[in-house]
Amino acid sequence: MKDYYRWAKEFSDKHIAPYADEIDREGKFPKEIFNKIAEEGFFKILVPKEFGGEGAGIKEHAQVTQAFAEGTATAGLCYTMSNVALKFTLTFGRDEIKQQVVKDIMENNKFMSLARSEFGTGVHVFNSQMQVENHEDYSIMNGSKSMITSANHASYYLISVPADEKRGPVNWLVPYGTEGLEFSESDWKGLGMRGNNSCPMHMKDMKLDNKYAIYIDRQKANQKYPVNIDVIYFMAGLTAVYTGLGKTIYEAAKAHALNRKYPGDKTLANIETVLLHISHLFNNAFVAESALNAATEAMANEEPDAFEKIMTARVTASLNCVDSANLGMRIGGGAAYNSKGPLSRLMRDALAAPVMFPSVDVLRNWVGKIITGQNLM
Ligand SMILES: Cc1cc2nc3c(=O)[nH]c(=O)nc-3n(C[C@H](O)[C@H](O)[C@H](O)COP(=O)(O)OP(=O)(O)OC[C@H]3O[C@@H](n4cnc5c(N)ncnc54)[C@H](O)[C@@H]3O)c2cc1C
Repeated sequence: MKDYYRWAKEFSDKHIAPYADEIDREGKFPKEIFNKIAEEGFFKILVPKEFGGEGAGIKEHAQVTQAFAEGTATAGLCYTMSNVALKFTLTFGRDEIKQQVVKDIMENNKFMSLARSEFGTGVHVFNSQMQVENHEDYSIMNGSKSMITSANHASYYLISVPADEKRGPVNWLVPYGTEGLEFSESDWKGLGMRGNNSCPMHMKDMKLDNKYAIYIDRQKANQKYPVNIDVIYFMAGLTAVYTGLGKTIYEAAKAHALNRKYPGDKTLANIETVLLHISHLFNNAFVAESALNAATEAMANEEPDAFEKIMTARVTASLNCVDSANLGMRIGGGAAYNSKGPLSRLMRDALAAPVMFPSVDVLRNWVGKIITGQNLM
């Protein structure tokens, strides 16, 4: 059986990690790296075998994301977003759209992104305020999305809009280049994750063929959990991003402690308190990775408590990563504070973990509701 983590890790060590500082410094989307990711076939993993893809699932999605995030969290997040948008399209899309998207991914090295957050509704992404005016063959859209990863570089943007009065919940797929679609790249000033280019996306009198409407028929698509499969893949993806980042923080802090020598040849790693800190970072990384693997395994096996496990894994990976980033900076000392070495960059990347939808606080609430038998929304 193919080892997805190993495959992606070899790629990440060679093509992603060496460029992590440069991506952060320039704050630009790593276009060449994403061309290589596409050429190597990583965007095809979720494409079903009958379409010529690999038919992989949530575990492999998480493994590849984690390996990329170990190189830089930006690559992990942008990659995972494409898989999530694709999973949604494959689950709910009509055949014509599925075929178009799959062809673009398989043959034209394209990838996707997810556009749900809005300035008004923030983390409550299910309450879109977009305006949609339906006509017989097309629809006109107006509105903005606030932070869109891979903006201006992905070929399709999956947007949330209010439910259709007649046909219920719906998302739309917006092909890059659609007239009326604009990105304000200068508004991306991310503290971390700087290569994401997660800038606002504006839609002004944007006209879309009605074929791009993707109606969410939960029953037909056999949805087992209170949220749709894309949200589950998103949570797995974010867990993987922050698991990968937490591992890299541990490695970076350990390397610093071993290499930082005092006069007389004693290193930081010879100091007992520092050893306790390094051991704490290992603990955080190990627990996050174990939770990710257990939760994606539970999802793959459709276990009854898989939903609360994946949410808890996302909370654990996020909080552990922020904790490790903080402690990593302490181990890194003045050098790290003065931005020498990777620890300050890793700390800035980590701080995105708790605020991204579904945020840690929202998730804690969801888990509480589910384990006490209450409705989610
Ligand atoms: C690096 C990065 C990349 C992103 N990429 C994308 C993307 O590609 N596509 C996309 O659609 N979005 C993206 N986002 C947006 C993200 O998913 C969130 O929607 C966004 O960060 C919310 O910001 P806000 O200030 O409006 O949050 P607010 O809604 O104002 O929330 C602020 C804080 O209050 C907390 N809070 C709010 N409501 C509750 C509640 N009911 N219970 C408990 N706590 C609550 C939140 O957890 C958060 O910590 C990205 C964000 C980041 C940081």
